Amino acid sequence: MPQLSITRIRDLVRSLNYVVSVHAAEELEDDNLTILDLESIILTGKIAERQRDSKTREVKNVIRGRTLAGIEAETVVKSVPPVRSSSSPSISFSGLCASCGLAAPQLRRVTRTFGKGKDLLVIEGIPMWSCPRCGESYFTAQTMHEIERIKALRKSVAIERPVSVAEYHDEAA
Ligand SMILES: [Zn+2]
Repeated sequence: MPQLSITRIRDLVRSLNYVVSVHAAEELEDDNLTILDLESIILTGKIAERQRDSKTREVKNVIRGRTLAGIEAETVVKSVPPVRSSSSPSISFSGLCASCGLAAPQLRRVTRTFGKGKDLLVIEGIPMWSCPRCGESYFTAQTMHEIERIKALRKSVAIERPVSVAEYHDEAA
């Protein structure tokens, strides 16, 4: 696979031709960063390092740039194995699993919660692509942006619904 240049990576980011692993999406959430911060890191950043996985031989590009708030941060970018078609990137996951490269991820709809306490927001029906081979899961760039839009507009797009929220206590373990 040809090595990704920073120019190519930026083009892919600008055209929303990328996916984010659920793991990476959760890390963003934990760090109070959004997909716009991730894109900012790449659009302002440089490839700081290339690491080749000794087992899979795949190359991971470590990109160091700045978040929207100007804070230095790093992210890892790798290319997805051969693409079938990307005519409709908003619905289709246009390649093989970025983790194992052996199967085409399948669409699932998931419910996810964001924030906590009074700020808790539940979003249902989020399209998530899951690899039937290795279990890795992804959100498309479009999905990440839509989640951000829903979070920003929650006052107007969310409806209030009584839900049961329980808290797990360690003492009960
Ligand atoms: Zn896989």
